[in-house]
Amino acid sequence: MIDHRRLGRELDLFVSDPLAGAGLPIWLPAGAAARHAVEEYVRELERRSGHQHVYSPPLGKRELFELSGHLGYFAEDMFPPMRLSADDEFVLRPALCPHHALVFRARGRSYRELPLRIAELGGMYRPERSGVLGGLSRVRAISLNDAHTFCAPEQVGDEVAEILRLIREAHAALGVRPAGFRLSLRGPGEKYVGDDAQWARAEDLLRGALAGMAYVEAPGEAAFYGPKIDIQIVDAAGRESTISTIQLDFDKPERFDLSYTDSDGSRRRPVMLHRSLVGSMERLFAYLVEVHEGAFPAWYAPVQLLLLPVDAAQVDAAAELARQAVDAGLRADIDVSGSLGARIRDAARRRVPYLGVVGAREAADGRLALRLRGGRALDPMPAAAALALIGAQVAARATDLLPPG
Ligand SMILES: [Zn+2]
Repeated sequence: MIDHRRLGRELDLFVSDPLAGAGLPIWLPAGAAARHAVEEYVRELERRSGHQHVYSPPLGKRELFELSGHLGYFAEDMFPPMRLSADDEFVLRPALCPHHALVFRARGRSYRELPLRIAELGGMYRPERSGVLGGLSRVRAISLNDAHTFCAPEQVGDEVAEILRLIREAHAALGVRPAGFRLSLRGPGEKYVGDDAQWARAEDLLRGALAGMAYVEAPGEAAFYGPKIDIQIVDAAGRESTISTIQLDFDKPERFDLSYTDSDGSRRRPVMLHRSLVGSMERLFAYLVEVHEGAFPAWYAPVQLLLLPVDAAQVDAAAELARQAVDAGLRADIDVSGSLGARIRDAARRRVPYLGVVGAREAADGRLALRLRGGRALDPMPAAAALALIGAQVAARATDLLPPG
């Protein structure tokens, strides 16, 4: 069976070392290269859609998480506070929202700034039970693609529609195939903040955004502060989890006393939308490794082009081509050890999308014979044309290795 933990080891993507701790995987260079490419893509997508990026620390004072409601409603899912002195306690954050509320509050805000979209790919921590940990799908240190939109109540519908559009775009580029949409609603019990009217209003807004789409309702799956739209994936073992989410929150703006000046000069309370386009980097990659069986689209493959000199006489020419490819922005490498057949087999095992075979003829006339992942060999072409072909597929974040046609 396909298992991202086994593939992660085979492809040198990450390692889980008991000395580091369960649920605290370490990303190895190949995994880090792929993740870096995905992070750059997500940041670019967010920048183009009007998000502003911030950095905030993964821990904060206890009082911050008392104010946010996390210590009151979510403490079971948090690491215990760390005490430095009697009146100085710190908490590893279980979410980024409290810090982003402080970003909004950092100065006076006007209606002209709304929707204000604050994004961060940031760290957060949850003490998952050690029995459920393994690989990247359940971890205790989470790197979340997160953003919070602060907007006027009447802007919520358009904003949710735009977020759904961004989610679809990101899924298409990454090769994520969602299993379905879920409207996660409040369940019985006391673990929710806010009054019934707020919840009803928030549910109506999300139902409106989902109108005409197929979705299921899931009572009891809401966040403690509001209902949410969750986009679900199913892993190779058939387990369902959430990869993308949009959550509506009237509560935190109250708690943090957030306000903006409206066009008539009055003070108004914004609504806060929490959203993640692709979830955490850990869960995303657990899924991507399995769905692609390690054969990522070239744009986030750890090594995009591997140069293979046929024998020792072409090593310099191949190294020069690797240097040109790196200069052109590609992740390129050269493999000189062992027979050509063994190196091609090893590259196939590593799922390298493009191999550049450099024999005596190619080295002499500056050409390159590309072999695509899967085995297809192209006719030798000028090296510059080969690099341009790969560069164009990478720049387009294409899922195929060749342009159509
Ligand atoms: Zn949030």
